[in-house]
Amino acid sequence: MSTTFDVINPATEKLVTTLQEADSAQTDEIIAKAAKAFLTWKKVSPGDRANLLRRFSAVVTAHREELAQLEITNSGHTRGNALWEADNVANVLNYYAGAPERLFGKQIPVAGGVDITFKEPIGVVGIIVPWNFPMPIASWGFAAALAAGNTVVLKPAELTPMTAVRLAELALLAGIPEGVLNVIVGKGSVVGARFVSNPTVRKISFTGSTSVGKSIMAGCADQVKRVTLELGGKSANVIFADSDIDRAAAAAPGAVFDNSGQDCCARSRILVQKSVFDRFMAGFEKGVKEYRVEDPNLDSSQMGPLVSKKQLETVQSFLNDKDDTVAFTGSAPTGAGYWMPPTVLLPKSVNARTWQEEIFGPVVSVLPFEDEAEAIALANASDYGLSGSIWTNDLGRAMRVSRAIESGNLSVNSHSSVRFWTPFGGFKQSGLGRALGPDALDAYTETKNVFFATE
Ligand code: NAP
Ligand code: MG
Repeated sequence: MSTTFDVINPATEKLVTTLQEADSAQTDEIIAKAAKAFLTWKKVSPGDRANLLRRFSAVVTAHREELAQLEITNSGHTRGNALWEADNVANVLNYYAGAPERLFGKQIPVAGGVDITFKEPIGVVGIIVPWNFPMPIASWGFAAALAAGNTVVLKPAELTPMTAVRLAELALLAGIPEGVLNVIVGKGSVVGARFVSNPTVRKISFTGSTSVGKSIMAGCADQVKRVTLELGGKSANVIFADSDIDRAAAAAPGAVFDNSGQDCCARSRILVQKSVFDRFMAGFEKGVKEYRVEDPNLDSSQMGPLVSKKQLETVQSFLNDKDDTVAFTGSAPTGAGYWMPPTVLLPKSVNARTWQEEIFGPVVSVLPFEDEAEAIALANASDYGLSGSIWTNDLGRAMRVSRAIESGNLSVNSHSSVRFWTPFGGFKQSGLGRALGPDALDAYTETKNVFFATE
C-alpha cells in the first residue's frame, strides 16, 4: 500500500507538492537495483568515472538557480545560502572527480614476493540525510562513495526531499548510469531502518540527531556493517579579552543564527572573558538587532523561518525556563510561516537545560569566564565535540586552546567550519569518522592486502 505526504513551504505554510513514500519492499527493490549496478560501476575505468563525476558537477552548476529555488521553497533557506549549497554540491563532485585516478594503495617491502594494498569499493552504500542542509550533506556522502566505486541508495529527510530527488535526475542527465545513485523518499523508521537491516547495504553514512545515530550504530552492529556518523553539536565560541572584541561581536550572530540556528556547527554557547563581557554584549546586541530575518527569497535575507511547525514548537519549548533570563532578541516577521526572532539567553548556571542540550534553532546562551583554564573546562563540559571558535590575538594561546578543546573542527578568529577539501566530523557524541577532505575515501573503501609469491 503506498502512502503520500505533503511538502510544506515553511515561510508561507503553503503546500509545495505531495509525494509518494516508499515502503520496505520498494526499498528492497531499489537496494537490489543498486547492487546490480555496482557490478558494472566498480569496473568503470578510473578516467571514465572521473569524467562522469566532472560532468555531473557541470550539470549541477548549470541548474544551480533551479536547485537553489527548490531549497528556498522546501526548506526556507535564504537565497544566499541556497545558492552556496548548490555550488557546494558542484564543488564536492568536482573535488572527488579527482579521486578515482588517485585511489593509491601501498607497496610494502616483504621477503619472497611483492605485497600490495588495494582500496576496494565496499558495495551498496546507504546515505541517510537530515533536513537542515539537504544538498551539501547528501553530496558529501554520495560524491566520495561514487568516486570510490560504490553505488548509493540515499534517503533524504521526509521534510526536505526536493533537491535530492532532482540531484538524482541530474546524475542521469550527466550520464551516470541508471541504478548508481538512487534516491528513495520515505520515512526514516521505514526506509532508513531498512538500509540498516538489509544485508545488501554494506555501509551506512548517517547524518542527524545523536539519538537516532546511536540506534543506527546499534543496528549496524548486528552485521558488523560499516558506519559513519555525523551527529549533533553544542559548540563553544570562546572570546578572550586579548582579541579584537568588535570583530568577535560582529561575527557572533552569523555564527549561530545562520540557517536559523539549524546547524550542527552553530556556535550556540558563547563564552566571554569577564573583563570584556559588557563590551562584547553591547556589540553583539547591535548585531542581533540588525540581523535581517525576512523572506528568504530576498537577496538581503540573513535568516528565514524554521523548517517546520514541529521544529518551531520544539525550539520554543526551551524558552521561559526558570534557569535563564532573556538578554535581548532580534526581530522576525509575523503572520504565516514558522518564524522566530534570534534570541540571546543568560543562563543562571551551566546546569541550565539551554546550556546543556542542542536546541537547533535561533537561540544562543552566553556565560562569562575568568581565565584560559576555565574557558577550556567550560568548552569541554559537553557530550558533544563538533565545532567551535577561539578569538584571541595571542598566537601561543590560539595554539594551546585549539589543541585543548575536544572538537573535530575549530576556527581561530573566524567561524568557518566546512571546506570540502578539509576533514569534517566530530569528537565524542558528535560522531564517528570524517567526511570531506583527502581521507574521506577511506570511509568508502576496504583495504585489501595481497601478497604475490615470486619464488
Ligand atoms: P534525525 O531525526 O536524526 O533524522 C535524520 C535522518 O534520519 C532523516 O532522514 C530521518 O528520516 C532519518 N531517520 C529517523 N529515524 C530513523 C531510523 N530509526 N532509522 C533510520 N533513519 C532514521 O535528525 P533531524 O531531525 O533530521 O536533524 C537534526 C539533527 O541532525 C540535529 O541533531 C543536528 O545536529 C544533526 N545534524 C548533524 C550534522 C553533522 O554533520 N554532524 C549535520 C546536520 C544535522 P525522517 O526525516 O523521515 O524522520
Ligand atoms: Mg527527526
